[in-house]
Amino acid sequence: MAEFRNIGVLTSGGDAPGMNATVRAVTRAALAQGVQVYGIYEGYQGLMDDLPADPVTHFPGSLIKLDAYAVTNIINHGATILKSARAVDFKTEEGMQKAIATCKRHNIDGIIAIGGDGTFRGATDLTNRGIPCIGLPGTIDNDITATDESIGFDTAMNTCVSLIDKLRDTCESHARCNVVEVMGRNAGYVALETGIAVGASGIMVCECPYSEEEIFENIINAKKQGKRSFVVVIAEGVKFAKEDAGIKNYCEDFAKRLEAATGVETKFCRPAHILRGGDPTLRDRLLASRMGYEAVRLLLEGKSKLVVCEQKGDIVSVDINYALILDRMYKNKLKPGDLDAFTAEQQAEMRAFCEVKKKEFDEMYNVSKVIGAYPEA
Ligand code: ATP
Repeated sequence: MAEFRNIGVLTSGGDAPGMNATVRAVTRAALAQGVQVYGIYEGYQGLMDDLPADPVTHFPGSLIKLDAYAVTNIINHGATILKSARAVDFKTEEGMQKAIATCKRHNIDGIIAIGGDGTFRGATDLTNRGIPCIGLPGTIDNDITATDESIGFDTAMNTCVSLIDKLRDTCESHARCNVVEVMGRNAGYVALETGIAVGASGIMVCECPYSEEEIFENIINAKKQGKRSFVVVIAEGVKFAKEDAGIKNYCEDFAKRLEAATGVETKFCRPAHILRGGDPTLRDRLLASRMGYEAVRLLLEGKSKLVVCEQKGDIVSVDINYALILDRMYKNKLKPGDLDAFTAEQQAEMRAFCEVKKKEFDEMYNVSKVIGAYPEA
């Protein structure tokens, strides 16, 4: 087993609530094994830059030695104390070599990288060049197929529910509808689950067919039976798909069409990055803690190129390349040659995994339609 002197931990890509809780778990778990931890500021950018501290701007330096106290009182806070960045140069060989030189300079023997699929690609590249890495899924979008939930997803949904509940209050007073477009990239999880939780009259996600007419009819029927407040939740992925088809402002225009078709005054709301902020929920703190602990255990055991996942309540780990290709399979974006590295048995296992996941999503969407609907009186 490799001897670890120091490990690095970084947060990368889009930020997500619970990243701090993950950094804390990683730090404490490593310290418990006698391994020192460097917090790497601004993700892979900090690893390339290795800048010194600057007392004038309060910049702490690209590499911050984390002791147990350094991560105290952060489990309960949003954002990431290590900050995040989209480090484009890291994708180049020159950038990668700078990062490796930093690791050598500071005797960093392994890295735990918290982020999304781009972050995992970076972790793979580093591992291939001799710095073993483990990935942790930190994204509000919950778009990493191999894990049932990613760190930040639960908090983002709770934030969204709380916002929409407030909109609903004022909709009820004024007999209005609110169309709400929520983040999630091309994944509809945030929209679907929050839509169910707020009692939406309509939910639009890319994963399932939806009908504007059906939503209008549902609202018209419900209005006839006395309902005054309405919410329609749209995944931002729907907007992206429409933009790809040359249609701009789909969600805003849908709100106008809804008002015209139903006679219900309709407002539009896009909470956008608000969903990325805020203190993590219990669920995210727990997931972050369990995953962070497991990542350290795996790394110190000599494992690498793995992403820690939650499947049916268990914390497991999956090969990063497997996870990335599984993503493409789930999203119907497989490229020629993607499956070459996998045995027929693995490919069948991946297909079955995706089918189950799609079935679960479809079932949840059907539930949302049934319980969000007013049958004709
Ligand atoms: P999110 O899902 O929130 O977007 P992400 O991790 O996918 O998170 P990206 O911006 O795609 O976010 O990636 C984060 C960082 O990972 C990039 O800024 C870059 O430094 C590194 N990275 C991304 N793609 C690659 C790649 N193909 N090879 C090496 N490094 C990469």
